[in-house]
Amino acid sequence: MKKTLFFVLLIGVFFAGCQQHSQTTQKQEKPAKNIILLIGDGMGTSQVFAGITANKGKLNIERFNDIGFSRTQSASDYITDSGAGGTAIAVGVKTYNGAIGVNTDTVPVKSILEYAEDADKATGLVATSTITHATPASFSAHQKSRHMYEEIAGDIVNNDIEVFIGGGLKHFKERKDSVDLTNTLLEKGYTMVYKQELIPTVTEGKLAGLLYEEAPPKFSEGRGDMLPLSSAKAIELLNQDANGFFLMIEGSQIDWGGHANDAQYIVDEMLDFDKAVGIALDFAEKDGNTLVIVTADHETGGMGLNGGDFTTGMVEGGFTTDNHTGVMVPVFAYGPQSDLFRGIYENTALFDKMMQAFGFEKK
Ligand code: MG
Ligand code: ZN
Repeated sequence: MKKTLFFVLLIGVFFAGCQQHSQTTQKQEKPAKNIILLIGDGMGTSQVFAGITANKGKLNIERFNDIGFSRTQSASDYITDSGAGGTAIAVGVKTYNGAIGVNTDTVPVKSILEYAEDADKATGLVATSTITHATPASFSAHQKSRHMYEEIAGDIVNNDIEVFIGGGLKHFKERKDSVDLTNTLLEKGYTMVYKQELIPTVTEGKLAGLLYEEAPPKFSEGRGDMLPLSSAKAIELLNQDANGFFLMIEGSQIDWGGHANDAQYIVDEMLDFDKAVGIALDFAEKDGNTLVIVTADHETGGMGLNGGDFTTGMVEGGFTTDNHTGVMVPVFAYGPQSDLFRGIYENTALFDKMMQAFGFEKK
C-alpha cells in the first residue's frame, strides 16, 4: 500500500510539473510592443527571387525564419486589387475590389492602425506611391472607392497618424472643396516636409511628409533613398512613444513594374524595398519587442524567372499577364509572436494575427 501511494504521488508531481512547464513556455511569448508591417505590393515569390538573383544571391528577406503564405482572393473576385487586398490585411474582412477599409456593404471596419491608436500607441505610414493610394489608404481611411483620393486624404488627417510619408500633396492641397488640409495638419501640430532632403532635420513630434504632388518617381528615375530614409525616420520618431507603435511601410512600385512587365523595374523596386526590410530587422533585433512582418497584397504580372545569373545579377523575367494574379503570396515574420504567421491562411488572418500579437481584442 505504502509503495503504491508513493508511486501515485510521484506520478502526480510529474504531471503537475509538466503542466507548469507548458504554461511557462506559453507565457514566454510576450505580446509585441511594436509592429512593423512591410507590404511589397505585387510581390510574389518570383519577384523576391528576382531581387535575390539581381543582388547576387542575397537579400535581407532571407533573414526570416517564420514563413507562411497568404491567400489573396477578394469577396468579389478570384483576382484581388490592392483596395480589397489592403483592406483584408488592415481590417480583417474580405471585401469587393476597389473598397477602402469598408466591408461588402460599404460599412467602415476598424483597422489595426486604428486599434493601435485607441491603445495609445503611435502609428505611421510610409509608401512609394501617393499616401492616399489603395494600400496605405486601407489602413487609414474608409471609403467606398479607392479613387476617392481627396476623401481619403481627409480621413488620413482625421486619424491623427503620427508619421506619414509619401506622395500625393495635391490631394491635400488642390481640392474640389478648396480646403487646404496642409493648414489643418499645421494646426494639429505636424511638421510639414515637402522635400526628401529635409526628412533628417525632423527629430521629434508628428511628421507629415508629402514629398511629391503626385506619385513619387521610380527608384531608377530619381526617387533615390526615399523609402529607406523615410522608413528609418518613421521608426526613430514612432519609437519615442513609450506605449509602442504600429508602422506600415509599402514598396508600392513592385506592383507597377509587374503591370509594365518590366523585370528591371521590379528588381530595382525589390532591392529598394529590401533595404527598408533590413532597417526594420536591424531595429527589431536590437529592440527585442518588435514584430516585423513582410508580405504582399497579391502578385502582379504572373512573373516567372526564365533565366538568371548570380555572378552578374542578370534576371530574365517572363510574364503571363499585365494584371494581378491569384497565386498565394509569401509572409515572413520575425520577433515576438512571429510563429503565429506560419502556415497557409486567408489574407484576412493577417489582421487577426496582428491583433493577437498586440494582445488586442476586437471591438
Ligand atoms: Mg499599393
Ligand atoms: Zn496593381
